[in-house]
Amino acid sequence: MSEKIHEVVIVGSGPAGYTAAIYAARAQLEPVMYEGSVTAGGALMNTTEVENFPGFTDGIMGPDLMDSMRKQAARFGTKLITDDIVEMELKGSVKTLKDGSGNTIQANSVILAMGSAYREIGLENEKRLSGRGVSWCATCDGFFFRDQEIAVVGGGDSAVEEATFLTKFASKVTLIHRRDSLRASKIMADRAKANPKIEFLWNTEVTDVLGEAKMEALQLKNTVTGAVTKRDFGALFVAIGHIPRSELITTQVALDAEGYVKVEGRSTKTNIEGVFACGDLVDHTYRQAITAAGSGCQAALDAEKFLSH
Ligand code: NAP
Repeated sequence: MSEKIHEVVIVGSGPAGYTAAIYAARAQLEPVMYEGSVTAGGALMNTTEVENFPGFTDGIMGPDLMDSMRKQAARFGTKLITDDIVEMELKGSVKTLKDGSGNTIQANSVILAMGSAYREIGLENEKRLSGRGVSWCATCDGFFFRDQEIAVVGGGDSAVEEATFLTKFASKVTLIHRRDSLRASKIMADRAKANPKIEFLWNTEVTDVLGEAKMEALQLKNTVTGAVTKRDFGALFVAIGHIPRSELITTQVALDAEGYVKVEGRSTKTNIEGVFACGDLVDHTYRQAITAAGSGCQAALDAEKFLSH
């Protein structure tokens, strides 16, 4: 174990984590950030064009935005470690964290910014055929399903964005939603509705994923009539939201019933002194890159204030 006790360790590297790092580094707290071994950059790494992050008149690609934030954090002296934290002991005045390579690091404060993970439908065959036709990332896997008919499940911005992106490759994209209206923002929904390659299948649930070596079809249930049908697809992209990645801290920090970290009022303070949480880990409602960045800024300011006492 290193003898040094750091001022602040940041766990997670989406817009919340990088913004916290930029602020903490500029406050000369010499932050150490664990970016994650495979998930560095967070959910925006799997996004195409981000049109609503202020300051980019013509939009910016998600990975480019994260790369800029990362460089900005590094420029002010953040120590970036491309590894996962696998254990945390957060109670007490000195916090101890263990990384995936077996190293231990200590800190006076910790900023939790682990973000969220893709939600699964929860079907046995969804898991079994994952990577063999079932995917959660159109930008990663869409290319493999050129000229095929692709299904996307979900009704939010993610589903509409994935469906629109997949029309580049697919012969046709069918967006399957359990209700009869989209949750997605109007501008994105209108764009998808105007796309001749996208068909909408309303009031429909995916009840099974069929296929042996790879996915070949879906079993679908109409939520109004109860009718069950089978329809052939080359791939299924699941875009039904996210769940907070709080599994490492369930016994450490107070969480709400859905697993989001509870914070005090409008601050980022958790129930443990010196531990702050930000981004998708705490946010049920807004979950935008810009709101995550804003809460990362708050977490760094809260940590700075705590450390100055
Ligand atoms: P979301 O807004 O929570 O939408 C999830 C969708 O999946 C909903 O339509 C929901 O149906 C459906 N769903 C949830 N559980 C399901 C299940 N078990 N089976 C079938 N359908 C299910 O999630 P999101 O689309 O990932 O978006 C998350 C946040 O990121 C949002 O705040 C969104 O605005 C933001 N985002 C923004 C952009 C952008 O601006 N470029 C892009 C992507 C995401 P119901 O509608 O019936 O609840």
